[in-house]
Amino acid sequence: MTGLKRTADSTLAKKVNTMVVVDAVRKYSPLSRAEVAKLTMLSPSTVSGIVSGLVRAGLVRETKGDAGSAGGRRPILLTLNAGAALAAIIDVQVARILYGIVDLAGSPVCVMKEDVDLSSPAGTVDQVLRAAARALAKLPRAGAGAAAGIGVGVPGVVDSRTGTILKSTRLRWTNLPLAARLQHEFGLPVLVERDVRAAAWGERRYGHARNVTDFVYMAVGEGGFGAGLVVNGKPYVGARMHAGELGHMTVDMHGERCSCGNIGCLAGVASASIQAWKGGKGEGAEGDLVEYTATGLVNLVNLLDPELVVLGGDIGGRSDFASRVEAAAKERALLAPGQMPRVLPSQLGDMAVALGLAGLVFDRFYWNQTPADDLPEMGEGGMTSYRVQARCGL
Ligand SMILES: [Zn+2]
Repeated sequence: MTGLKRTADSTLAKKVNTMVVVDAVRKYSPLSRAEVAKLTMLSPSTVSGIVSGLVRAGLVRETKGDAGSAGGRRPILLTLNAGAALAAIIDVQVARILYGIVDLAGSPVCVMKEDVDLSSPAGTVDQVLRAAARALAKLPRAGAGAAAGIGVGVPGVVDSRTGTILKSTRLRWTNLPLAARLQHEFGLPVLVERDVRAAAWGERRYGHARNVTDFVYMAVGEGGFGAGLVVNGKPYVGARMHAGELGHMTVDMHGERCSCGNIGCLAGVASASIQAWKGGKGEGAEGDLVEYTATGLVNLVNLLDPELVVLGGDIGGRSDFASRVEAAAKERALLAPGQMPRVLPSQLGDMAVALGLAGLVFDRFYWNQTPADDLPEMGEGGMTSYRVQARCGL
């Protein structure tokens, strides 16, 4: 037993050390092996062994730096090879479909957008297939630079284990095995995820929640309210994939019956304000939406005690909205003063779902096949705004 345990411990230690090294290269590159050792507090020989493996796997690149002012040898510097793996992503939104390619560092290589085809449920499926084909056409079919997989985000209830859309009212899809359909068509690994859960994972991998294990992503927008929950560093989906139905939380015991069967749901109570906001009837509607969002937020905070709340969506993602919601929620949460979680607007803007899908594709289909063999935390830097869209530069 002792021998077995020791083997398991050393395998785990190697995985953890590899993650730490990848993270340091990602955050601070270009940097030398000696700097990695200093930053990670690992021994130079451990760092050297791990880096050699990562270079062989094509994940880390070596370049020659400049010689110091005193002359001498040019140091060998390390950078993450962001193009080592790419993900094709398709984000089916309320009104648009956004699709393209994202690299391993979470940078959009190519993004395209078009209006979503709602003429028929089958027409929307065809549009998703066409979008995937167009994104994949930018990449080689195999070898270096090929897609690690395809990720699709949709509004609705999704069984992400099987890639089946259980129900999407907006797209009129019921029990649609979309992942199987795409897999059959393209011969690549495919995952399908609920939009708001993918967005939460985008923040976890590339946004505000990079170093946070318990947080809530709340979407507030044209499509209503939704929440993506991350508990103990993992997405929380519930027993039947329904977790995060924020819009169907009762906020008025004497309210009207909702289409879901419940009474006084947040979605129903706030729907007039969302319509008014969409129609450009500004301040009054927005003030109401701040109150409704704060109500949902306080319920979630009292239930889950998250470290951070990230607000996204076309209404929620604006920084002035987030700070108003935070102020309103502070008045009401059960917590002791100073214990209110931070409330931040999404760092990834309208790319949150796309980047989350990419992160999920890499986590599920790439990292577990490389020597790194685990999920490294992606680091800080260079991720300030995704509102400026990448062009298709391939
Ligand atoms: Zn409801």
